[in-house]
Amino acid sequence: MPKVLLLPGDGIGPEIMSQAERVLDVVNEKFDLQIETEHGLLGGSAIDAHGVPMPEETLLKAKQVDAVLLGAVGGPKWDNLDREIRPEKGLLGIRSGLELFANLRPALTYSQLASASSLRAELVSGLDILIVRELTGGIYFGQPRGIHTNDAGDREGFNTYRYDESEIKRIGRVAFESARKRNGRLCSVDKANVLEATVLWREVMNELAADYPDVELTHMYVDNAAMQLVKEPKQFDVIVTGNMFGDILSDIAAMLTGSIGMLPSASLNHSGVGMYEPCHGSAPDIAGQGVANPLAMILSLSMMLRYSLKQEAAAQAIDDAVSAVLDQGLRTGDIMTDGMTAVGTQEMGDAVVAALQ
Ligand code: NAD
Repeated sequence: MPKVLLLPGDGIGPEIMSQAERVLDVVNEKFDLQIETEHGLLGGSAIDAHGVPMPEETLLKAKQVDAVLLGAVGGPKWDNLDREIRPEKGLLGIRSGLELFANLRPALTYSQLASASSLRAELVSGLDILIVRELTGGIYFGQPRGIHTNDAGDREGFNTYRYDESEIKRIGRVAFESARKRNGRLCSVDKANVLEATVLWREVMNELAADYPDVELTHMYVDNAAMQLVKEPKQFDVIVTGNMFGDILSDIAAMLTGSIGMLPSASLNHSGVGMYEPCHGSAPDIAGQGVANPLAMILSLSMMLRYSLKQEAAAQAIDDAVSAVLDQGLRTGDIMTDGMTAVGTQEMGDAVVAALQ
């Protein structure tokens, strides 16, 4: 029986997680998924209970399940703690503990919300991009790194941008497989005109393409990709790129959609086990008020069903239910526009549950 670990986390995390749990209960029964759930602590809630952001018990549980569903961690209460025991450390700990090297971030604009984007509605309406970002290598992790004083007595900061072939291959395969399940187009983003590490990146992507004749591979330099994302975002289907470029491009793509409260994400390891979470944080400014948008959390659940548990029908049913509640004009504060009906976290959850039933 598939097992899932639920980590509500901090701030609005528990509020939005309880809506996702209600949705999971409905699809569990409707599609006879027989998914078992258990709960764990991560982040500030774990610090309060155990003094550390990622208790061993949490990592142990995470290693025994098919997928982890996370709310969000962090908040002002823990901001002044030593860096080593801050909530964010729990997040990094679980990512590296599970070896989650592939970060999948869809940027999808519901036509109902196109007017919330900073771009003209016709440029983003119907936008559906998937950014596949390498998450555990590249310049964020490369050695050597540091700040030292050089022979001329000048202080010098340095990092190392490196990728080996096997790292590029494994993220490449995730991207090709994802493109195959979507519209069959993959754009690999690099800076091969300047950086040798990405010359290799491009070579390996070209070699992999031979195994995926049904996927059309193109290449783009990262500066152009940033421009194209805001100029004509609908030209993309799947984008694959390294850690740093992916960090930046996925935030640009997120903003095109108009609301951070609508965006799920997935991080996968080589055996398909994944952690699924909204792109937003714990929103301490609205925590406990019952006004947070639970849809990114609910869509993270849908991604979990699709990518780790291979339950496409249940995932699609959730996606359709979310689209249906937007059609009904229901909006939490973050996506509210004139003429729509304002609802809170619980009512939004009620509406998704009703649409599913
Ligand atoms: P945030 O995403 O939590 O909030 C940014 C703004 O968006 C806030 O005004 C918030 O109210 C709003 N918002 C976010 N999610 C929303 C939702 N579902 N519905 C309605 N409005 C929503 O980012 P922040 O304020 O920079 O960070 C707050 C805390 O979250 C910090 O402690 C930060 O470290 C942490 N954080 C955690 C994660 C994570 O757990 N993956 C990611 C980012 C930030």
